[in-house]
Amino acid sequence: MKKNADIIKLTDKHVAHTYGRLPLALVKGKGCYVWDAAGKKYLDCVTGLAVDNLGHCHPQVVKALRKQAGQLIHVSNLYHIEPQSLLARDLTRLSFADKVFFCNSGTEANEAAIKLARKHSADQGYSGRHEIITFTNSFHGRTLGSLSATAQKKFHQGFKPLLSGFKYAPFNDIEAVRQTVSDKTCAILVEPVQGEGGVNLADKQFLKELKQLCRDNNLLLIFDEVQTGFGRTGALFAYERFGVKPDVITLAKALGGGVAIGAMMATNPVMKSFVPGTHAATFGGNPLACAAAQAALSVVSQKSFLKTARETGDYFAKQLHALARKHTVVKEVRGIGLMLAMELKVSGAPVLNDCMERGILINCVQSMTLRFLPPLIITRKEIDTLIRTLSESLSRLES
Ligand SMILES: *Cc1c(COP(=O)(O)O)cnc(C)c1O
Repeated sequence: MKKNADIIKLTDKHVAHTYGRLPLALVKGKGCYVWDAAGKKYLDCVTGLAVDNLGHCHPQVVKALRKQAGQLIHVSNLYHIEPQSLLARDLTRLSFADKVFFCNSGTEANEAAIKLARKHSADQGYSGRHEIITFTNSFHGRTLGSLSATAQKKFHQGFKPLLSGFKYAPFNDIEAVRQTVSDKTCAILVEPVQGEGGVNLADKQFLKELKQLCRDNNLLLIFDEVQTGFGRTGALFAYERFGVKPDVITLAKALGGGVAIGAMMATNPVMKSFVPGTHAATFGGNPLACAAAQAALSVVSQKSFLKTARETGDYFAKQLHALARKHTVVKEVRGIGLMLAMELKVSGAPVLNDCMERGILINCVQSMTLRFLPPLIITRKEIDTLIRTLSESLSRLES
């Protein structure tokens, strides 16, 4: 097998330089751990960015993949696909939604939601109602529609003109949203917890008022749960923890137990605007990805599994708050379930590098916010290890 340095050299030479990569090639994963090409083991609190919620290579996902790979990997949506119909049955049973559109990623799920919102408003007889309200520091993906929905200037640079029809409002400010709604508005798109924006929680009351605003004006409420879905916040979907049901939800990341798959789900009255010819994806709902997703969903949707994830999250948060009291360099701890963050008063890069050196992978967003997205199966002992390492690293920053 090649060494870290060899793999890094190959990547640099042949792969587009779209990522600021750490100097590490990961070659193996099991449970909460990954290994680099030199054989060094890491506790993984990045989980492929909230993808490997069940840990790496979960036996039930691996088993389902092996079985499906030997039976049927891909056929067109010109035909019925059993694993797809089974997954859709399970997803709708476990959520407010009645129907699922399958795609391959988070950005595609949001593109589908944007198209559905426009089409649905046209079908209702509104002409010229096409605008969607999104929020400052949101992240919805990198393709042009989702990028235009993303209200962070740094992602827009160099790609103008964006798709028109998006209005940005400040997060958690219902008055500002009310003023942004016009006779052109057809939907509101929001992350219940902003992930890439720095793990910012929506206020429960804000989401409730958004829902009411949508009811009053006949707008669709779309939740982007690409990052918050599948147990990340301690419930199967974050909307359950906030007690607000959206009309449309977008999903990806952890849906496939590590395999690429996305979905956009809605109630029947809304999804009926998608008819043959209105939207499609060649790989959407392919047998292999759906088999993996169905296996992953059967694990993550278990009540006892979710309860443990919620309790582990509470424990983790408590330990982070204790660290914050001890270290003046910490500005704030926030999050829900196992989607947690520690904002520093300084750059988080040295802490991230310290942790990596000592065998723990964490992530940093908005440059000063350390983000923790561990596998939902992480143990208290493993959290204690992380907390000890963090504490030492923070002390070093302060000295
Ligand atoms: C990651 C993410 C996306 C984009 O998903 P991709 O699969 O990378 O296209 C969209 N929305 C949210 C909230 C995300 O966290």
